[in-house]
Amino acid sequence: MTAALTRRPRLGDWRSHEELAASRRARLPEVLSQAARTPFYQRRLTEGATLEDLALTTKQDLRDNYPYGLLAVPKEELATYHESSGTAGRPTASYYTADDWHDLSERYARKWVGITASDTFLVRTPYALMITGHLAHAAARLHGATVVPGDNRSLAMPYSRVVRVLHDLGVTLTWSMPTETLLWAAAARAQGHEPGRDFPNLRALFVGGEPLSPARRRRIAELWGVPVVEEYGSTETGSLAGECEHGRMHLWADRAVFEVYDPATGRLGAEGSGQLVVTPLYREAMPLLRYNLEDAVEVSYDDCPCGWVLPTVRVLGRSAFGYPVAGRAVTQAVLEDLVFQLPAGDEVLFWRARAHADLLRVEIEVPDARREPATRALRAAIDEALRVPCEVTGVAPGTLVPRTVLTGVHDVVKPRSLFGADEDWDKALLYY
Ligand code: AMP
Ligand code: MG
Ligand code: ZN
Repeated sequence: MTAALTRRPRLGDWRSHEELAASRRARLPEVLSQAARTPFYQRRLTEGATLEDLALTTKQDLRDNYPYGLLAVPKEELATYHESSGTAGRPTASYYTADDWHDLSERYARKWVGITASDTFLVRTPYALMITGHLAHAAARLHGATVVPGDNRSLAMPYSRVVRVLHDLGVTLTWSMPTETLLWAAAARAQGHEPGRDFPNLRALFVGGEPLSPARRRRIAELWGVPVVEEYGSTETGSLAGECEHGRMHLWADRAVFEVYDPATGRLGAEGSGQLVVTPLYREAMPLLRYNLEDAVEVSYDDCPCGWVLPTVRVLGRSAFGYPVAGRAVTQAVLEDLVFQLPAGDEVLFWRARAHADLLRVEIEVPDARREPATRALRAAIDEALRVPCEVTGVAPGTLVPRTVLTGVHDVVKPRSLFGADEDWDKALLYY
């Protein structure tokens, strides 16, 4: 497959879901023959097999074939190697060629708020192993933006520095998990800035990587005074969906076949609730056929006022998973939404909860003056929505997210072995 010569579809290239489905079908023979070049699919693909005949590819399959069992090109052609987050045991590897990177960057940049050469783009997701930082970085470069690489897992970039670059560089776009933007807001305030006032160049916050409830999204947008633009993707696939101006996430169904798997019945369909299964259509290095992301989603083909002829997706992800309290399932998604429905004036940004067998314990960070009304309101809201016994405690700001995390400066120096008589030589070699 010579992806360099392959013309990848652009938004607006098709008029109907049928036209789109036909163009996907036309790609499949090439996708299958590329897959047949990998040791893993070579074993699986029998003569004349079509996509519908195939068993799902699972995360376990990827682990079992670590690192290069899904490699379809000579290794010299690889551009990057990645591993997915949260893989404590055997890693889930993903790899891409330079041409794969064109497809990846294009998909990332498709959100309704575009990236331009006049943008200053702060990348605040990890660069180590995962794809996320590199993905945003490449997409921003593709569109000529100035990239500020601000890896959120790096000691070189504490929150105080994030606030400084956001402010001093007049950052216009950011990429992070939603939670990050709340941490920046608290860090900005800790440094005497008001998020919605003192960052006038900011145009939008691009977020992804974790579930975001409607109330939390509204709170973030209101805090910063700019739109929150969500996307959904993974290290194994890159961006799978991005948001339109009507606040819905559309699946990039011109670049992949999407199916919804119901683990209870084993059935696969085009829409409804279940786990998202994806077959990317423009991949060289690591073809995936019917890869089950195991994320709980809802896919719909209802028209969206934006006019994009692409299905929409709601990603519940792992937040669909609940913990039982007094016989009822409590999910993070529901709790999060209730917490962020508290009035903005309560200034609650951070919370945690623990599901005991018959008591839900919730803590919120809240200023003294608002402790009573905020805890009372949240208790009532949980009572009403979940009907489980709960205890809501207001803790002082700084309890869940220590102030030093928000304001601390970490001096990352170079390694040293020689120290003066009164210097701390425990800092030798391990230089952070
Ligand atoms: P990783 O494979 O480490 O890059 O993480 C990808 C995973 O993050 C996905 O499989 C989802 O579980 C989760 N994720 C990414 N974007 C979203 C989103 N917008 N909403 C909910 N979960 C998301
Ligand atoms: Mg993953
Ligand atoms: Zn739309």
